Amino acid sequence: MNPEILTALALLALGCVSVQSWAPQPPNASGTRWKVHDPDRPAPKVVTPAPAALPTPPPSDAQVLFDGTDLEHFRAADGGPARWSVEDGAVVAAPGAGSLVSKDSFGDVQLHIEWASPAPPHGEGQDRGNSGVYFMELYEVQVLDSFESPTYPDGLAAAIYAQYPPLGNACRPPGEWQSFDIAFRRPRFTEDGALEQPARLTVFHNGVLVQNNEELWGGTSWLSHHPYQPHADRLPLSLQDHGHPVRYRNIWVRQLEPRPPAPPAREATLTLSPEELDRYTGEYRQEDGDTIFSIRRNDGELSLHLSWKPVGLVLQPKTRTESVLRDTAASVTFEFQGDGPARALIFQLGPTRLRAVR
Ligand code: MG
Repeated sequence: MNPEILTALALLALGCVSVQSWAPQPPNASGTRWKVHDPDRPAPKVVTPAPAALPTPPPSDAQVLFDGTDLEHFRAADGGPARWSVEDGAVVAAPGAGSLVSKDSFGDVQLHIEWASPAPPHGEGQDRGNSGVYFMELYEVQVLDSFESPTYPDGLAAAIYAQYPPLGNACRPPGEWQSFDIAFRRPRFTEDGALEQPARLTVFHNGVLVQNNEELWGGTSWLSHHPYQPHADRLPLSLQDHGHPVRYRNIWVRQLEPRPPAPPAREATLTLSPEELDRYTGEYRQEDGDTIFSIRRNDGELSLHLSWKPVGLVLQPKTRTESVLRDTAASVTFEFQGDGPARALIFQLGPTRLRAVR
């Protein structure tokens, strides 16, 4: 064996190196990727969004963080009372007041938020209607007046700041309400603090998909990204104070539950000899329809083939008459007469019950 492989195997066995299931890819480690804030990075095309149909009402399970009345769900970054102002149903960033931080903490969430850049606009590039939506106070989706206002692409509105430019520049003119609809999946860390899965972001800006399930390299920051540091499963959302009176309204989230775990192991299946399995094989015609049910044997395994479906479905006997599909919640019951081959079958999927005869 190659001595380098032997050395690597020995180090692994000794626990001297760890294997990470996902390796973050910094943007310029090899000099072959875009630098952070690279002005030569291709700018996304301009996409004119459809006319606004805002505000978007929250669905039934949403947690409304701001409905235009007060800031009871927010605080200042230092833990004190929120110091942004509420005017005409909008919360306005107060320059110098620091971030607006949610009192509640969140992990995986869907967020809807509407924002408007100051009008008339002031400044250029990053100094024009700058704010930001931070997940877990670490991962920023950029808020910026990017309407006919150039800046480095990874700092445009809806950029995952300093990492991913948006796939399109869907910014509306300053003063007009615009929306972000964002799906955030938090990073996962192992018990010993290693990164298991990176954070992911999907963003629709004014209904236009501009971030498509992107994997973050770490926390977002000016000039560089911050490598992942293990943190809590739930942390607050925050809105950035970048010195510009950006307005926000209609802020709601839906907390996303993890998918339920796999079910416990099912009961054992019956092992039958090839001779016994051959009693089931053959073609059965649906009594009140055109479907042909074909039962085939491949070595020690039965499969069900439907005349209108090209993929076979593995069939597992539970008893000598009752079988279930291995991967589908459906059953097949066979009818016998004496010791001969099956003469009919009944396919059952929920309320659907189809009988077919040989
Ligand atoms: Mg910002």
